[in-house]
Amino acid sequence: MRWSSAFIPTLRDDPADAEAISHKLLVRAGFMRQLMAGHYSLTPAGFRSLRKIEAIVREEMEKIGAQEFRLPCMHPREIWEKSGRWDSVGEEMFRLRDRKGADLALGMTHEEIFAYHAAELHSYRSLPQIWYQFQTKFRDEARPKSGLLRVREFTMKDSYSLDIDEAGLDAAFDRHLEAYRRIFRRFGFDVVAVEASSGVMGGNQSIEFMLKSDAGEDWVAHCEKCGYAANLEKAESILPEIEDPEGRPAPERFPTPGVKTIEDLARMEGGAEASRQIKTLVYVIDGKTVLILLRGDHSLAEQKLIDQVEAEEMRPAQPEEIRAALGASPGSLGAVGVPDLYVIADEALRGRRDMVTGANEDGFHLRGVEVERDIEVKAWLDLREVTSGEGCPMCRAPLSVHKTIEVGHIFKLGTKYSEAMGALVQDEKGRSVPIVMGSYGIGLDRSLAAIVEAHHDESGICWPVNVAPWEVVVTVVKPKDVECHEAAERLYEKLGEAGIDVLIDDRDERPGVKFKDAELVGFPYRVTVGPKGLGEGVVELLRRADGSKRDLPVAHAAETIVEAVLDERF
Ligand SMILES: [Zn+2]
Repeated sequence: MRWSSAFIPTLRDDPADAEAISHKLLVRAGFMRQLMAGHYSLTPAGFRSLRKIEAIVREEMEKIGAQEFRLPCMHPREIWEKSGRWDSVGEEMFRLRDRKGADLALGMTHEEIFAYHAAELHSYRSLPQIWYQFQTKFRDEARPKSGLLRVREFTMKDSYSLDIDEAGLDAAFDRHLEAYRRIFRRFGFDVVAVEASSGVMGGNQSIEFMLKSDAGEDWVAHCEKCGYAANLEKAESILPEIEDPEGRPAPERFPTPGVKTIEDLARMEGGAEASRQIKTLVYVIDGKTVLILLRGDHSLAEQKLIDQVEAEEMRPAQPEEIRAALGASPGSLGAVGVPDLYVIADEALRGRRDMVTGANEDGFHLRGVEVERDIEVKAWLDLREVTSGEGCPMCRAPLSVHKTIEVGHIFKLGTKYSEAMGALVQDEKGRSVPIVMGSYGIGLDRSLAAIVEAHHDESGICWPVNVAPWEVVVTVVKPKDVECHEAAERLYEKLGEAGIDVLIDDRDERPGVKFKDAELVGFPYRVTVGPKGLGEGVVELLRRADGSKRDLPVAHAAETIVEAVLDERF
């Protein structure tokens, strides 16, 4: 490819609306353009990298015996109704109606459709199977942002394992785990595999592959010492023991005029520090009013609550609902003396004495509360959101909590979808049993952005060779100089013949402009062909990742460059 005839629309400035580095650089380096919020067009350079990402994923999927499909992205309502997700998914799903009035969904995932086709399997002898595809997915994100990291339309590799039993599923899950580790290594990622909440997918075990990055939106607690890692939706930790004073024989009401928050009460003369307060939250869980108690300085991890109470529907109560249930406003709420309400308390409150909580009367609190003596707790659960510095649940070393990008997610689904779609097979004893399924996803566009997040510097992108749009750029310093032109063309040809992805920068531009563009676009290698070097019989090879330079004798330049590139391809 010749730069003079290629469409590589580099820009001098960052796009005005971009915050994430990958968003800025992919636009500036000419890899993509926004069509509308959450929908991006990849330019030829962007698509070259995406296809390399796809090729790596395909290679690793084929290695574990997966077979490639291509399913429609438009689905009939009936199939999604069978699994119950037509109703349960809500506004995230794009829906439309055809001219005959039939309801359709744009696929956000394909469990239902693969299970529908798995219904053609009849015997355990046809199992196991791993099926996969690369397909456009649609998700009506409320706030698409950060370029390719949060979009409404994206390409995903999704695979599904089909097995006769749980042991088969475990094996398929482990093979995916290994395949994903290889894929992310080849992308140049240092990922942590974390336990996660399965959320909308259902099922039990699920693992997310997370890349540490400030552009991420998922928080992960990670132990450097033993490797424990978990999404904050699920993470646990160990707190230091607290020795409480003896307290009072019974709770005592006292006035707290104007106190509306935990901080107000902590600041008030005669108040209590946050760790000695009980925070009372009111939720409506499947239509029932429930009080959630936490230590004043702790936050509720909502997903932990959802997972443990197995709620279909859960929301914070409205102010009028709170007043109707407790007779007071937030700021003065408490669980002492409310025998009719279901009370769930966080484990960190167990055994605590001499605590302070709202009196269910505006402007009053209770002190001397002994949690287990004075409150009728119906369920003790771990509901607290972990914070940095708390003890690792495995080894007690301090945890660090940081932002991450989710680059892959694998689930053990079980039989939810196969039962819904009638995907049953005969087992060895002739009984009809539902196929046991797993589902496994990698977002390709998000991986493209995550690679840029992980590999860039202040001058631009530093693509790893495996996913670079072009591995080498041949920069012709003086295209109009005959000797310079011919030497560059010969090198360009030789590299191409050796199977290297090479671009020749033959534009009629100043060398400074070409060097800047090459850094921005992020070619792993730049070879500079100029009159001065040629006068000494050399060209200059620059490695983008570390900025190292060396002069190569013209006669052996091509061989040396091919060797360097192949060395980094894997
Ligand atoms: Zn640990």
